[in-house]
Amino acid sequence: MKRDISSKLFKAAKQVIPGGVNSPVRAFKNVDGDPFFVRRAMGCRIEDVDGNEMIDYVGTWGPAILGHAPECVVEAVQSAAKEGVSFGTPNPYEVDMAETIVDWVPSVEKVRMVNSGTEATMSAIRLARGFTGRDKVIKFVGCYHGHVDSLLVAAGSGALTHGKPDSAGVPASFAAETIILPYNDIEKVNAVFAEMGDQIAAVIVESYPANAGLIFPKEGYLQGLRDITAKHGAVFIFDEVMTGFRVAKGGVQELEGITPDLTAMGKVIGGGLPVGAFGGKAEIMDYLAPDGPVYQAGTLSGNPLAMAAGLAQLREMERQDGYAKLDQLGARLEAGVRALLQEKSLDYQFNRVGSMFCLFFTGEEIVDLDSVMTADTAAFRKFFTEMLEQGVYTAPSPYETGFISVSHGEAEIDRTLEAMSAALAKI
Ligand code: PMP
Repeated sequence: MKRDISSKLFKAAKQVIPGGVNSPVRAFKNVDGDPFFVRRAMGCRIEDVDGNEMIDYVGTWGPAILGHAPECVVEAVQSAAKEGVSFGTPNPYEVDMAETIVDWVPSVEKVRMVNSGTEATMSAIRLARGFTGRDKVIKFVGCYHGHVDSLLVAAGSGALTHGKPDSAGVPASFAAETIILPYNDIEKVNAVFAEMGDQIAAVIVESYPANAGLIFPKEGYLQGLRDITAKHGAVFIFDEVMTGFRVAKGGVQELEGITPDLTAMGKVIGGGLPVGAFGGKAEIMDYLAPDGPVYQAGTLSGNPLAMAAGLAQLREMERQDGYAKLDQLGARLEAGVRALLQEKSLDYQFNRVGSMFCLFFTGEEIVDLDSVMTADTAAFRKFFTEMLEQGVYTAPSPYETGFISVSHGEAEIDRTLEAMSAALAKI
């Protein structure tokens, strides 16, 4: 594929933007070639500035659950904008959004809107600390919760892709407040609580870890986390920034029957605009300013365009029964991938829940970051390059999850499987 204009733009970008990108996951550092620049994205397709069209499984990293630029979202944004793009006062959309979230996610009794997933987890951690009067937080190896200081330790996503799961610039004293444990090992969590349970403010976990591929909890693991935190009065924080409103109306907590104390949300609820949210038990949420002692704020929080976009997307998902549709498309992709792996005698792992999926280039069962790291990264690189060459865009990292949207059709899924067949043959 010719990518001359993208190459020129990337050269210019590198002069004025660190690494040429505004978020490290966008860089093609661990795959061949340079990132492409997109000029438009419609439905399940994106078109780069050189005119190459691709079927997109990144979906702007999760938000585009209806596909790109769905009419309902574009119209909602346009009509909201005509009335003013930001008020800095309460507005009716915020109430509608909060009521919708409370309705869809049963563990959430009160919710506050923010502007990104990072803000959501950062604020939830501060709130948990303020509520409990304790400092320590347990997080799990390979889970990514945004670029919050105390959570950028043994992190996933771009931090993992670029080999820096522990970021420079995080004071050792902050990192010391974070206790890092392997995922899916409840005994280790119980042991830490037995030793210092009265110092632990919160346990934060990605509902299904999806920033180191896509990992599923072992039977009873999430309930184990729920039980031990309840026993010791620690706040159980579910990070559903990726999975919330994506795997089901009520997220993983609905699928797994788990009731966390606080939930971090983002991505899908913003309809592609910058949005995050955190919510949970009223008793805890009421610790927030202005009524409570934990300060948290935002100039643009609850922005009318962002709320209108998110609400339009959620309503349309409900109207179309989008989650059922996504599950059917996901099942079609999964059946196709499994048939290909069998046909080619590859023992790679394929994990999927609804519209989220990850192909791991390893025969090891995927239970934690160690098993994820057994994947053959050279094989992934070849696969990614060949898929792109065939017009299918997947995340440029073996540690990211793919997303199907409602606007992907069976034809696109089948076309993707053809591309996969050719790409796997090249490995
Ligand atoms: N938590 C999870 C589970 C995420 O996947 C992400 C982003 N991929 C974040 C938090 C951070 O969200 P944001 O990039 O909007 O700050």
